[in-house]
Amino acid sequence: MNKNRQREEQKNRFFQKDNTIAAKDRIVAWPRMGNIDLALVALVSSLGVKIVEPPPNTNEALEIGVKNSIEGICLPYKLNLANYIMALEKGANTLMMFQAPGSCRFGNYTKMAQKTLKKLGYKFDMVVFDMYQSKMKQTLQAFWHVTRCMNPYRYYKGFSMGFNKAFAIDTAERLLFYTRPRELNKGDAERCYKKWYKIIRETNSVLGCKRLKKQVIEDFKQIPIDKKKIVPKVYLLGEFFVLLDPYANKEIEKTLGDLGVEVERQIFFSDWLEHVLKPSFLYKKESHRERCVRFAEKYMKRAIGGETIETVGDTVFASKNGIDGVIHIMPFSCMPEIVSQNILSKVSREEDIPVMSLVFDEQTGKAGYQTRIEAFIDLVKRKKMKSKIKNENKKEEMLAKC
Ligand code: SF4
Repeated sequence: MNKNRQREEQKNRFFQKDNTIAAKDRIVAWPRMGNIDLALVALVSSLGVKIVEPPPNTNEALEIGVKNSIEGICLPYKLNLANYIMALEKGANTLMMFQAPGSCRFGNYTKMAQKTLKKLGYKFDMVVFDMYQSKMKQTLQAFWHVTRCMNPYRYYKGFSMGFNKAFAIDTAERLLFYTRPRELNKGDAERCYKKWYKIIRETNSVLGCKRLKKQVIEDFKQIPIDKKKIVPKVYLLGEFFVLLDPYANKEIEKTLGDLGVEVERQIFFSDWLEHVLKPSFLYKKESHRERCVRFAEKYMKRAIGGETIETVGDTVFASKNGIDGVIHIMPFSCMPEIVSQNILSKVSREEDIPVMSLVFDEQTGKAGYQTRIEAFIDLVKRKKMKSKIKNENKKEEMLAKC
C-alpha cells in the first residue's frame, strides 16, 4: 500500500464524515480491559470530556456479548461489544475503538462492532486508535478529534497522570504477585493492592500521580513475608486481552498466588503503552517484543499476528532464566494462539520446561481450571524440589573432594 493511500485511510478513520457530535456534547466510552481505565479516565477527563465507564466484565456482560455476536468469534470481541452496548445504554455517544490491521480477527473488530451496533439502532460516533500504526502524533490527533481541546497544559496533565497511574498500578500488581505467595498473614498483599487501586483511581493531581509508584513500593515493603520460603516462579503469557482481564482469565493470578506460586505476567499495560507511544529514538532498551523475536528465532522466523512470537519467545527465555514453568492462556478459537500452542509442545520438550495451555471462553465454571492448575503446579513444585536436591548433592560432592 503506498504512503498516500495509507495517510488517506488514517485520516478517514480519525475524521469520519458522519461525525456530527460537538465536543461539548460528547460522552465517551471504551472497552474494558484490566486496569486500562485508570489511565484513560485520567487522560480523557483532563481534556474536558464527559465519560461513561462500562462496569467491570461480569457474567451479565458476557451474556450480552454472546447474544449479539456470531458464534465463532473470540471472547475479547464478545466482551468488548457488551461493554459498548452497556455504555451506549448509559448515554455514551462516542466510542473509542482499538484496532489493528492484520492477520487475525482483531483487524475486523471495528467494522463488525460498528455494523452490529448500528443494526441494534444505536447512534454514535466512532474514533479508531490503530494499535500498530499509532505513535504519539496519531494518538494526539485522535484525542483532539474527540475533545477539540487546544490547551497544551491539559494534554500534559492528562498524559502525565495517565502514564503515572499506569506505572503505579502495574508496580502494585508486580508487588502483589511477589508478595502473595510469601506473606505471613493471609490477605495482607491483596488488601494492600486494593487500597492502592482506590488511591490511584482517586488521585487527581500531576504531583500526586508522580509520587504514587514510590509510595506503593514503600507500602508493600511493610508487609511481613517469609523470605526463605521456596516459591516456584511461573510465567503467565499468551493473548493480550485474557492476560490483562481478570474476569476473562478467571483470576488465574490469584489462584496461582494462593497455591504458593509467584506469577510473572509477561504483558503489562504500562510497558506496552511506553513502547507504542514513545518515539523509537527515545526507547533505548531492547523492547519486550524485540527480545521475544530474538529468543523465538529457533522456532519461528517471523511474527504471524497476535502474540504468537511473544508467547514462543517468552517461553524460550523462561527456560534459560530459571523459571519453573509456563502457563499459556488464550481465548477459545484464537487463531494466533492455536499456532503458539502447537509450537509450545516442541519448545517444552526441547528446552525442558513444563508448559500448560489453558483455553478460556463462555463457560463460567472455575472448578475445571482450578483442578488443572493444581495438577500442573504439583508437577512444577516436584521438579523444583528435585533440582534443588540435585544441586545440593552436587555441592556436597564438590565439598567432599576439596
Ligand atoms: S489475538 Fe486471538 S483472541 Fe485476540 S482478536 Fe486475534 S484471534 Fe481474537
